[in-house]
Amino acid sequence: MTEPFWPDTTGSHLPHTWRRTPPGDSEMSRESARTHPVGVTCSEGHSFFLSAAIHTIHPDGTVTPSVVCSDAARGCPFHEWVLLKGWRDE
Ligand SMILES: [Zn+2]
Repeated sequence: MTEPFWPDTTGSHLPHTWRRTPPGDSEMSRESARTHPVGVTCSEGHSFFLSAAIHTIHPDGTVTPSVVCSDAARGCPFHEWVLLKGWRDE
């Protein structure tokens, strides 16, 4: 089953939200936006970045492969297929 994630329009980092990594104004921050284009917050409230080396974000917002929380080693059970609602390729 796919879990919908909602655009984080207020910077709240609430569970099940996503946000685009701002490109910033330095080469280093532009590189970060390329390698880690999206931040997400899992159902347990942990925020982390998706790595472009691992995850593909499809035009409809579907993320493949499935997403494991960055806190999995500390016991977070979040491991789901994720759909970024409102995603648009830019
Ligand atoms: Zn988590």
